[in-house]
Amino acid sequence: MTLKNFPRLLLLITFLSVSACEHELQSDVVEVLDLGFSSAFIIKGTEEGKTILMLVDAGLPTKTLSILGSVVDMGYSIDDLKYIFITHAHLDHYGSAQAIRRATGAKIIVHVDDADAMTNGLSPVGDIAATTGGGSELLDDILTQLAGIPVPRTPPDILVNDGDSLAQYGFDAEVVHLPGHTFGSSGILLNNGNILIALTGDLINNDREDGKPYFQDLFAESWDLVAQSAEKLKAIAPDIIHPGHGQVFSNAELQTTE
Ligand SMILES: [Zn+2]
Ligand SMILES: [Zn+2]
Repeated sequence: MTLKNFPRLLLLITFLSVSACEHELQSDVVEVLDLGFSSAFIIKGTEEGKTILMLVDAGLPTKTLSILGSVVDMGYSIDDLKYIFITHAHLDHYGSAQAIRRATGAKIIVHVDDADAMTNGLSPVGDIAATTGGGSELLDDILTQLAGIPVPRTPPDILVNDGDSLAQYGFDAEVVHLPGHTFGSSGILLNNGNILIALTGDLINNDREDGKPYFQDLFAESWDLVAQSAEKLKAIAPDIIHPGHGQVFSNAELQTTE
């Protein structure tokens, strides 16, 4: 190899490592629905030998058709959607859940501590961070308005706690309570062979320009619990993490997130 070829080789190595990395973050058990502001997910399970679906989060109140369209685009009937797991009671995560339940008959699952907020159509904002929002009237305004947007009242069907298995519903997965952003904030840990996939709501997101994940730093019902949940997630060390906002990332990125 001459020195002249070196940059080209470097480019090739970079390309190969980037594509290998992206490949590792893909799986055939999680379909990511990019709903613009937030993400939702469809995971696959089985019931009596047939594939069934669980929607994880349900976007803003305007996302019903987009979500049901994705189910059909995946080659399923909307009746195959049997469950809707909500990571937390914010309007960008459960906004369309009620309408989707009406259309499909799916049962809505949420952690017991966020059930009242959903039942009453609320989005509890809690405390706005001093570092990122406390001094900013604009952010304060935006969040107050967000919290004030009415969400259809959405009484859940199934209440869950930390560690609850979802096997009884046909999914090789369990609930992990990650409180702080809201008191009931929870994720799902999904087994795919020897790969552990986490869907984590808004505890950690990855939608900023630097392309790096960050633990919740905008608003929380308890900042102490956000910090504890961050450590809990790091200790679990899932191979793949799907955040509520932004791009999927790896455990290596999780471990270096402050
Ligand atoms: Zn949220
Ligand atoms: Zn959110």
